[in-house]
This record gives sequence, C-alpha cells and structure tokens, in this order.
Amino acid sequence: MLLGAVEGGGTWFRAAVGHADGTIQDSTRMATTAPMQTLGAVADFLAAHPITAVGIGCFGPLSLSTTSADYGKITTTPKAGWSGVDVRGFLAQRLKVPVAIQTDVTAAAIGEHWLGAGQGAESLAYLTIGTGIGGGFLVKGQPVTGRLHPEMGHLPARRQPDDAFPGLCPFHGDCLEGMVSGPALAARWGVPGEQLPAGHPAWDLSARLLADGLTTMLAVIAPDRLILGGGVGQNPALWGPLHTHLAVAVSSYWPRLCITDWLLRPDLGEQSALLGALLMARGARRGME
Ligand code: ZN
Repeated sequence: MLLGAVEGGGTWFRAAVGHADGTIQDSTRMATTAPMQTLGAVADFLAAHPITAVGIGCFGPLSLSTTSADYGKITTTPKAGWSGVDVRGFLAQRLKVPVAIQTDVTAAAIGEHWLGAGQGAESLAYLTIGTGIGGGFLVKGQPVTGRLHPEMGHLPARRQPDDAFPGLCPFHGDCLEGMVSGPALAARWGVPGEQLPAGHPAWDLSARLLADGLTTMLAVIAPDRLILGGGVGQNPALWGPLHTHLAVAVSSYWPRLCITDWLLRPDLGEQSALLGALLMARGARRGME
C-alpha cells in the first residue's frame, strides 16, 4: 500500500511515494514554475505509482477550513500566478484518491513529531526562518488551524533602541519576518546571512528580536517543545546569542524552563515536511476506511 507525499515550496516542489512506516521508495523534484505545469508534473509522477492517498505540505497562505468553499486553495500569495490555485483539488481530481493538505511548515512539524525531534511532545511548535518565517503548531500531533492557520512569522517584533531599519514585510514592515528573515538580514547588512560570520552584530540583534518572538509564543501557546528550522534558523552563529537572550527573557517568569530541552533543531534534515506529508496521507487513507 503506497502513499504519496508532496512538499510544495516557492522554488521547488518535491514529490515522493513511500510506506506507512515512513520509508520513501521513490522521489523527485521539479522547479516551481506555472501552477498547472508544476502540479501536472507532480501528478504525473504520483500517477505512475499505485498510491492510495496523498498528503501535501504546501507554501501558503492556504485556506484550510474544511467547510470553506475554497478549502485546499492557496489564497493571496506574492508568488506570481499562484493566488487562488486549488492545489488539493487539482491532485484529488487527477489521482482520484483522498488528499490531505497543510502548510509546508505544519507538515514539517508533523514529520518531526512523528519521527524526529518532536517525538513524544504533548504540543509542538515549528518555526522556520529562511526566505520568510513560517510557523506550525500541533497539539497531540494534530495541527491547530481555525479561521486561518498560524502565521507566527508576522508577530510584531519589539524594536530595539536606535534601530532605524524599517523592515521588509510588505504587509507589516517590521514584524518578525520583516526583521529577521534571510532577505531582511541581506538588506540590513548588505550580504547574505550565510556570509555573516559568528560574532557579527547581525546575530546578536537577530537573537534579541527572535528571543522576544519566542517568548511571545511561549506566553500564547506554551508549546511543550519548539523546533527552529530553516537556513537562518539553523545557522550556528545565531544559536549562542539566541540562548543568551532567551535565558534572560524567560528567567523571571519561566525560571523552570530548560532552554536546551525546549528549543531544538530539526532531526530529519530536508525530509521533515515530506515525511509529515506521508503521515498526512496515511491519515487521509484511514479516514476513508
Ligand atoms: Zn509581516
């Protein structure tokens, strides 16, 4: 009984077929171009295997209310041509199997909860910091969604004294994504984040902003564990300052919080979201049985 998994990103789509225990049998990737071209290639790959269900972790924002007429569609995205695209409906129609969909970062959280650093966590938040900042939140392994889905990257970021950088978010300016994402680092410091050496002031400032954001998450959803992923999020130069500032931020109100047990890196590398999508496919198939 094969299952299909799809990870949809702004640059690449990855598709895989695998088994209910998390083993991948075959996989491929295709550039994210025009929607029908990209999704058509995904469908062609999956259709060549006898799959019984598909899970999708896709970039968003997505409509995820199952009672909504636009369930499974991308809503408004700056990605040209992708606003309103019915990702779930397209694959369900082509493949004639149950299809589950979540955001890519929620799929990563599901993968890490299943087989990675989130195993056994009562509740799990996953925050990825790269070209943008995305967040997903699971309670007992189940994604928390409602009217929308979590958008933790757009939390307000408390401005540091004398910091005049306006931020890059087209919606909010100086939200967390506008201040700490990879493009924000590059715009502020003039070089890509991966070229900023350890000890550069960029990392201390990013860590201050991020420690504030993580403390806000702690106050609102109190996740049992928090996984920090993405190219910026996993940069070793960030982790020292982040631990320092987070320790200060939580010390008075959450003195019993052990940061090294709470804040973790992903265990599954590039596979978190694809494995999460595989588990979602397993759930979608069970839902039909
Ligand atoms: Zn924003």
